[in-house]
Amino acid sequence: MTERGEKREDPERRTAIRRSTNRDERYERLVELAPDGILIHDGEQIVVANAAAVRLVGADHRDQLIGRPIDAFFHPPYLRAVEEQLVRSGDQAGLVPPVRDVLCRLDGSEIEVEVTAIPFVDRGRASAHLVVRDITERLAAQAAARQAEEFLQQAQKMEAVGALAGGVAHEVNNMMSVVLGFGTFLLRDPAMPEARLPDVRQIMKAADRAAVVTGELLAFSRRAFHKPKVLDLNALVREVEPVVRRLLGEGRQLTVALGGPCRVWVDRGQLEQVVVNLALNARHAMPSGGTLTITTAEAALEGGVSGYAGVSIPDGRYGLIAVRDTGVGMDAATQARIFEPFFTTKPAGEGTGLGLAAVYGIMEQNKGYIVVASAPGRGTTFRLYLPLSPDATVSERMEEPPPSAAGTPAGVTLLVVEDEPAVRAVVVRSLEGGGFHVLQASDGAMALQVVDREGRPDLVLTDLMMPGIGGTELARRLKARWPDLSILYMSGYSAEDLRRQGAADPECVTIQKPLRPESLLRSVNAALAARTSK
Ligand code: ADP
Ligand code: MG
Repeated sequence: MTERGEKREDPERRTAIRRSTNRDERYERLVELAPDGILIHDGEQIVVANAAAVRLVGADHRDQLIGRPIDAFFHPPYLRAVEEQLVRSGDQAGLVPPVRDVLCRLDGSEIEVEVTAIPFVDRGRASAHLVVRDITERLAAQAAARQAEEFLQQAQKMEAVGALAGGVAHEVNNMMSVVLGFGTFLLRDPAMPEARLPDVRQIMKAADRAAVVTGELLAFSRRAFHKPKVLDLNALVREVEPVVRRLLGEGRQLTVALGGPCRVWVDRGQLEQVVVNLALNARHAMPSGGTLTITTAEAALEGGVSGYAGVSIPDGRYGLIAVRDTGVGMDAATQARIFEPFFTTKPAGEGTGLGLAAVYGIMEQNKGYIVVASAPGRGTTFRLYLPLSPDATVSERMEEPPPSAAGTPAGVTLLVVEDEPAVRAVVVRSLEGGGFHVLQASDGAMALQVVDREGRPDLVLTDLMMPGIGGTELARRLKARWPDLSILYMSGYSAEDLRRQGAADPECVTIQKPLRPESLLRSVNAALAARTSK
């Protein structure tokens, strides 16, 4: 009791402190120097404002605040919160939880603030002490953190979906090799009744469509065939120009504006696929006509431009292709998803949602960047930034494989190594159909036994992914024995995967699955011809 009694404030002493100008001055200084804006509003006008408040509203002097009504600076949220608090608690002062509000500055601009108010009733009017904090920076930091998190999730999603898509495509390509192979054999079979041929053609057509889908999926997953070369950007655009013009069709213009010479380091076929996919989308975006403009330039990027999912594009020089259409454009929500596989806004049957997914994967695989600019009704521009080539010599256009090698295939022995029995059967039968003598093995170990027994083949066709001794290891062992032995790989994966697996041999040719009997024979003949011409 005595203790409490001692603590209870002595009214006389309190009065004495209030009177102490010394202490008032200290409080005044505290308020004046506080980093947050502090205001006292007497229900009618502002009666106190500290230096931070003056700065916050963009005033030069306190007088620009004092005497003015509070709603000259604040929007309803704060005022409502204060009023509600007063209604709830009567005239008892209580702390209103901080309220986010917008402060209207003297110049008309607005800033985000957090207002903490201690309301009170002064002569029957809702009054308040206010602490006003500028939270612009805090909000910006929060937004940046949120965005970074979203970008990270987006990137992880694309990575995961890419791995899945690549795996599925690889499996499906094996199966499609079987469908296309046996379909071809049926079509060629003289015993096949004429009336059944359309059925087989339907099967083949569906398999061809599946092969297009797996092709785009492999491109998306960065596992498509990829052999970068030094290319003249302008020559490349000039080459695809007629294709683009044709697919744009009637009523749509194509303008090509080429910049100065520019050498890039990319895969030609893949870049053509990118431009074609972009043009196909542009055609669709311009149903009642418009103009597609393709521009090239050597461009310098600076100031940390961001690409899709916030990827920051390193400053520097790039080969640029810009593809601009005057079509319907896209809103931000659509733009955020266009590179996802199977994202489409087109009616069922009209779009697969794989075109831009392939574009995205190809740009990544080629170490390039893509930037989209679009708005509804304002058209769309895709900018492709490609790595410049350090090398000055431009590679020639890839030659078509020469027609079959001179001489007859009879007496030429091929060794086929493939672990999938049905795929192996297709390959063997296709090559036998071409007149070759064909040996076969279901994996690397067996292939080594076969060559031990049968001697050196003229050419080895091997799958890459096999249990035990895979294609790469098999090739290494065979080359150790016969350094100039020709080896062709068959794979659903790219040359990059080959390198990843340790096949450093850039000379090795890879036949992309799904295999087709005709192209298989062409590749084998080309490899044999190259061998004899050496
Ligand atoms: P698809 O063409 O099969 O729909 P894409 O991956 O090529 O798949 O494109 C995905 C989506 O991106 C399209 O459905 C469309 O909404 C949008 N899009 C792509 N290119 C354009 C463009 N040039 N103009 C407007 N929208 C586009
Ligand atoms: Mg498309």
